[in-house]
Amino acid sequence: MLTEQPYLKRALSGVLALEPYSPGMPIEELQRRLGVANAIKLASNENPLGPSPLVRAALAEHAASGNVALYPDGGGFRLKKKIAEFHNIEPERITLGNGSNDIIEFLARVFLGPGRKALFSSYCFAVYPLAALAQNAESVVVPALPADDPVMPYGHDLNEFEKALADDISVVLLANPNNPTGTWLLPDQLEKFIARVPPSTLVVLDEAYIEYLGASQKPDSRAWLDRYPNLVITRTFSKAYGLAGLRAGYSLSHPSVADLLNRVRQPFNLNMLALLAAEHALGDQAHVRRAVELNTHEMARLRAELKMLGLTVLPSQANFITIGFGREAAPIHKGLLERGVIVRPMASYQMPQFLRVSIGTETENSRFLEALKEVLAA
Ligand SMILES: *Cc1c(COP(=O)(O)O)cnc(C)c1O
Repeated sequence: MLTEQPYLKRALSGVLALEPYSPGMPIEELQRRLGVANAIKLASNENPLGPSPLVRAALAEHAASGNVALYPDGGGFRLKKKIAEFHNIEPERITLGNGSNDIIEFLARVFLGPGRKALFSSYCFAVYPLAALAQNAESVVVPALPADDPVMPYGHDLNEFEKALADDISVVLLANPNNPTGTWLLPDQLEKFIARVPPSTLVVLDEAYIEYLGASQKPDSRAWLDRYPNLVITRTFSKAYGLAGLRAGYSLSHPSVADLLNRVRQPFNLNMLALLAAEHALGDQAHVRRAVELNTHEMARLRAELKMLGLTVLPSQANFITIGFGREAAPIHKGLLERGVIVRPMASYQMPQFLRVSIGTETENSRFLEALKEVLAA
């Protein structure tokens, strides 16, 4: 179909080559496709507790008012003020995104394009190669740590990143902890790497899962911003803050980078309810702590149970675990779907023997384990 129309040759070759991001299956879609009722979704690393009660109250009050007829504050003044206080940073260094995905797109639009290069790891977040390709930029992919690495199998390999650094790389992207592997980097090593990135190359540190990283391994990346003007940190409200459905994220960077990112940002990229919810979410850190505690506890339980089933579980300090089955995981994925449990297949990440499972509530996790045992026994 894509070859028939003559105008298609006018489309960017990168867009023609692009295979769109395939998100976790929504619960409704499983119901539509397989007629399965009471499905649970452990496929997109959402917060099983949902948003803070403060967020729910603010949304209920605001959504019922007539205010939605007005455009939102395009500058996001109040949210930026909250973020600035939270990180002790100037508002000029903040860029708001419709999710942190939006920020990655701004970075690609400003710093990538034909003849430009982006550097990232294999088994990295799927959005990085897509953002580069959509701009007709070139992707340089460094190998990850090997499957048999004793500490961090499939994790980012900073030595390989360092070897690949070159003056013609526009942007380096890395996530800590990483999705889809759950693996993480130690603060000292990460800072050493950032220090070695040429000042003319931007380094994007994606901290979508930073809240889940144990205290002793959580870097003070905010402090690095003062030392490395080429560093961009991205954060999201989609994971620990429980606002995935509303779409809100942000970046912290040098003001000159924020200025450029804000030039390509749609004037109203965050809607009014997302702005409001993010503001209240940031103010309820006790809710974040509850989510992290539940996650830590349930992750340990799941890991132990999965090990007893003889499965490989990658090290993770995020809100999901990536499970290796030692065989094609597609039939297991299908079996789980038929039992109303939606998890994430990893074939598009070149990990066809793995499934990624978000940590849910205790009830959801138990239901996943029961379904998995049935599927493995079948
Ligand atoms: C989920 C995720 C994000 C955040 O996406 P949003 O657009 O903020 O919902 C960013 N990076 C990684 C690695 C993620 O897994």
